[in-house]
Amino acid sequence: MKSYIKIGDVLICITLLFLALAGIVLPLLYTKQGESIVIRVNNIFYEEVSLTEDRILEIKDDNLSICNTISIQEGKVHMVSATCQNQLCTYQSPISAANESIICLPNKVIIEVISRTNTQIDAVSE
Ligand SMILES: [Zn+2]
Repeated sequence: MKSYIKIGDVLICITLLFLALAGIVLPLLYTKQGESIVIRVNNIFYEEVSLTEDRILEIKDDNLSICNTISIQEGKVHMVSATCQNQLCTYQSPISAANESIICLPNKVIIEVISRTNTQIDAVSE
C-alpha cells in the first residue's frame, strides 16, 4: 500500500515537471525574432525602424521637443532615456521578440516589435 502511494506521487511529480518544462520550452519555440519596431506617439504612427541596424533614435513629442530616446543594439531595442517622471520605461529590459513592447505611459510613447515574415508573401519578388 505504501509503495502504491509513492508511485502515484512520482507520477504526479513527473506530470508537474513535464507541464512546467512545456511552459518554459513552448513559448521559446514560438517566440519570433522581430524585424523592426513601430513607434507610436499619442496613438499616432511616428516611425518604423529596422532592428538590423544599430542606432540611437530620439522621439519627439507634439511640441517637437525630445521626450524619449531609444537605442537599437544587436537586434534589441531599449529605452535609454525619457522625460517622464516615473522612468518606468527606462527600467524595462531590452526587447527583440515580435509583439513585445515598451510603453512610456506619461509620454504616450509605444514601441512595438513587429515581424513582417507573414506579410512578405504578398511582396513582388524579382
Ligand atoms: Zn517613460
